[in-house]
Amino acid sequence: MAAKLITIVGGGLAGLTLGLGLRRLGVPVTVWEAGRYPRHRVCGEFISGCGQETLDRLGLRELFEHAGAVNAGSAAFFSATRSAPPRALPAQAMCLSRFTMDHALAVEFRRLGGELLEGQRRRDGDFGEGIVRATGRRAQTEESRSRWFGLKAHARNVPLTADLEMHVSPRGYVGLCRVEGGAVNVCGLFRRRAGEGHTPQNWREWLRGQAGSPLNQRLAAAEFDEGSFCAVAGISLRPQRAAARAECCVGDAITMIPPVTGNGMSMAFESAGMAIEPLAAWSRGEMVWAEARQTLARRCDTAFARRLAWAKWLQRMMLAPSLQNVLVRFVSRSEWFWRTAFERTR
Ligand SMILES: Cc1cc2nc3c(=O)[nH]c(=O)nc-3n(C[C@H](O)[C@H](O)[C@H](O)COP(=O)(O)OP(=O)(O)OC[C@H]3O[C@@H](n4cnc5c(N)ncnc54)[C@H](O)[C@@H]3O)c2cc1C
Repeated sequence: MAAKLITIVGGGLAGLTLGLGLRRLGVPVTVWEAGRYPRHRVCGEFISGCGQETLDRLGLRELFEHAGAVNAGSAAFFSATRSAPPRALPAQAMCLSRFTMDHALAVEFRRLGGELLEGQRRRDGDFGEGIVRATGRRAQTEESRSRWFGLKAHARNVPLTADLEMHVSPRGYVGLCRVEGGAVNVCGLFRRRAGEGHTPQNWREWLRGQAGSPLNQRLAAAEFDEGSFCAVAGISLRPQRAAARAECCVGDAITMIPPVTGNGMSMAFESAGMAIEPLAAWSRGEMVWAEARQTLARRCDTAFARRLAWAKWLQRMMLAPSLQNVLVRFVSRSEWFWRTAFERTR
């Protein structure tokens, strides 16, 4: 019997990684992608966590290294008034711009014989047998007290004290890390209270932080690459279970982990890695669709439940203005706290 086609809707990290893994097993795959490559995405571009094992298994680490990925081994935390010295990361991380990463994955997917339909948005509502949802984060629908938005730009002339700098403030947080070609990713997640205006027009001002803060000093001479700026609003950070979804999902389409963990891309790679075997079995006629979908959902929920719970707690702490200085002090003084917060959220 000929292998059945898998259709993946969404050619971001999860969709393309899954497509690549399936192509390696000879499964016919079509990926629909609404946008075109290369393109900038709102992302801290800091890859940390078990997803790196999926990259190794699928030979993608080499692909990323070849594309210029930068290794990261240290991190430093700052509040608006307090600085902590750099600390070694408990496990190595990797930084690569989404502009380069998504494009490299798309080229590799096509090289392996996958069909990639760029600039084609698939209509919602049709996610039945053989179709995987990899469409990324779901928009926030509930009217809560806070609305989240993300901003990202690349900049030059930004001196860093660690491979990753995390700056927290009452408005949100901004991460800084080096990416390929000597640029620095400046990416922030901010909170807007109900009733406040829309996403700010003056994105530089939001990313630079308040006057006199360590962030503001760090970006004092920054030269922003205007073309790299992007923004996203209506982000939902409420944890969801894969088993609760009626569709077969990978990546942020299942749930989004708070970006402060730098683990969302890892979860996209991991969920794609966990989907390869059951979906290939369905394609070969060895498993029914419902079983393949449920197997994947079970694996994802088992792998992600604990880190989602810890990440929610960590994000809450980081955004409470009264706790921000305490947190920075804890990170700098307690190896136990630093390791626990790092390891439990990935
Ligand atoms: C502010 C911020 C900072 C972050 N920083 C980090 C970080 O430092 N490290 C980290 O690991 N993670 C970070 N993340 C999270 C990370 O970006 C996501 O977890 C990751 O992009 C998820 O990959 P994905 O493939 O699931 O979704 P995406 O990368 O969003 O891909 C989904 C794709 O689907 C396409 N699509 C959607 N609908 C359709 C349709 N109907 N038809 C066709 N195509 C469609 C979209 O165009 C898109 O290309 C951050 C997120 C935010 C918001």
